[in-house]
Amino acid sequence: MSFQLDYFSLKGKTALVTGARTGIGQAISVGLAAAGAHLILVGHRDNMQETQEKIADVNGTSETFLIDLSDVDNLGAKLEPVLAKYQIDILVNNAGVIYREPAAAHNVQEWNRVMDVNINSVFMLSQAIGNQMIANGAGKIINIASLLSFQGGINVPSYTASKHAIAGLTKALANEWASKGVQVNAIAPGYISTNNTEALRNDDVRNQSILERIPAGRWGQADDLAGTAVFLASRASDYVSGHVLVVDGGWMGR
Ligand code: NAP
Repeated sequence: MSFQLDYFSLKGKTALVTGARTGIGQAISVGLAAAGAHLILVGHRDNMQETQEKIADVNGTSETFLIDLSDVDNLGAKLEPVLAKYQIDILVNNAGVIYREPAAAHNVQEWNRVMDVNINSVFMLSQAIGNQMIANGAGKIINIASLLSFQGGINVPSYTASKHAIAGLTKALANEWASKGVQVNAIAPGYISTNNTEALRNDDVRNQSILERIPAGRWGQADDLAGTAVFLASRASDYVSGHVLVVDGGWMGR
């Protein structure tokens, strides 16, 4: 059958998004809901009311599931209540933390916390939910990578290591699971105006040098990621596998 616009529709699908309380996770959740998916919003602090309200505004439906992704012991097993209730069609591994300290002094406990949230939990969630998708013969996993999946960054060695690992894990899972109907891809956002980048925007020198290098001439907004996420979550991307899609206003091309 030739292409139809409803290949982008997520009607009847269930999507689980981690880190859905704020920023990119919130914007992607609202985008997936606007495209028709039911959302399971994963966070570790509160009931993510703002995200739920924005989803209701686009006539979407959602529920919340609280779990601390820095506590990786038996993480897959902790998801069992969700997996017993739902077939997850779309998993967005978005939750992430950043810790800024030069490499020579970089705190090892913080290194481990960044690794637990940014990569170890991503593997465990992908394994638990990926197995359900494989049994179903279909699924979409979208990992949130970074420009620091390609570049070194400054004063964030734990973050850079975790995001390089995200790019590698995306390709490794894609290689094993593409033949089973599960597409695994990543989105690498550029410089997006969220809590994660507040320190950079508050530093006039860094802010200016970042802005000067972005061909689009502006910081990205979280909403700039939503359409890409809908594409990678939808039937329209069924032959896209193991790709890290940069959404950066042109930064990497410069
Ligand atoms: P953000 O607003 O700080 O979002 C991070 C989300 O992760 C928050 O909702 C946070 O919840 C959640 N989270 C943190 N620790 C958690 C834990 N232990 N358990 C469960 N959830 C946890 O920043 P963001 O920019 O939207 O970041 C989203 C993703 O995009 C991250 O993976 C980040 O590395 C990536 N990224 C961002 C940029 C950028 O320029 N902003 C660029 C490249 C990649 P709480 O707020 O409740 O703690």
